[in-house]
Amino acid sequence: MSFIPKIISWILTYRCNRNCIYCGSPSNQGELSTKELIICAKKLKDFGVRRIYFTGGEPLIREDFVEIVNVCSKMGFLVYLNTNGDYIGRVIGDIKDVKKVTLSLDGPEEINDSIRGENSYKNTIEAVEILKRRNFEVSFYTVLSELNSFPFVIDHILNIVKFFKATVFFQPAKRYLLRNPNVKNPIFPSKEKYKNIINYIFDRKRRNYLYIANSFSGLKHLGYFPEGKVINCAGTRLFYRLENNADLIICSQNRTVFGNLLKDDIRKFPSGKNIKCSNCTFAAKVEANLIFQGNLESSINYVLISFFRKYFNR
Ligand code: SF4
Repeated sequence: MSFIPKIISWILTYRCNRNCIYCGSPSNQGELSTKELIICAKKLKDFGVRRIYFTGGEPLIREDFVEIVNVCSKMGFLVYLNTNGDYIGRVIGDIKDVKKVTLSLDGPEEINDSIRGENSYKNTIEAVEILKRRNFEVSFYTVLSELNSFPFVIDHILNIVKFFKATVFFQPAKRYLLRNPNVKNPIFPSKEKYKNIINYIFDRKRRNYLYIANSFSGLKHLGYFPEGKVINCAGTRLFYRLENNADLIICSQNRTVFGNLLKDDIRKFPSGKNIKCSNCTFAAKVEANLIFQGNLESSINYVLISFFRKYFNR
């Protein structure tokens, strides 16, 4: 077993109340019971996991979400949450501890709602207001697509990010639907538009260093997309992803199943596999991979942004 504390992205469910254009999240793929989730959490503890990122689908759609989060916090995990924000007001008062909440934001209201559905912008902003009133750390994710890869969109997002003293990760939309690799993404960005917008964000990072969570090296890596550039993956050393059925994999792109947390012996799960990958576009994973391969600029960026988020953006 590795001495490095592991990070898990945990897909509690693939169900989602929204229907974002580039996602195609299957409405029902089955999921574990509350009891099974708690068994998984205990096994993750034995596996050396320190951080859990709850994600989906929309994790808050599960009725036992608060119970699961509170059990995990009590067990000593650092808990993080990725959500569309629609149900935050309903659950936030009962959640004991979440280190950071990440919300999706793809632009000004009209553009955001055309991608993520009616009222999604309004709901996201309301969710941030609720979270900020309760002193939660907040960050945003922006998916760069054909509909929002414009400088005025980036400026709008940065204004929101600054207003709420938050941070934002930018990453490209995939060529195929996120949850359905057989269907082309209808808003996959054109090559020229995408390159231009990455250059624009690179330039904005110079002036808004602490608000843009991507490092310069991370943005440079994302700039190679869609051709891609080989990167050493820190998956199985630093991070894994736990699927809705307890299968342990690396990420939605590399779906090799290492075992099932409920059925298999975790001592046999691999740790430290050498995985090279040519098309990593998950912004946070790109940063983890760069840091893990010793990139100094990404490491400094991570430390400064974490420090800023923790102490100055309340
Ligand atoms: S896409 Fe990224 S996280 Fe997934 S296997 Fe490749 S390098 Fe690792």
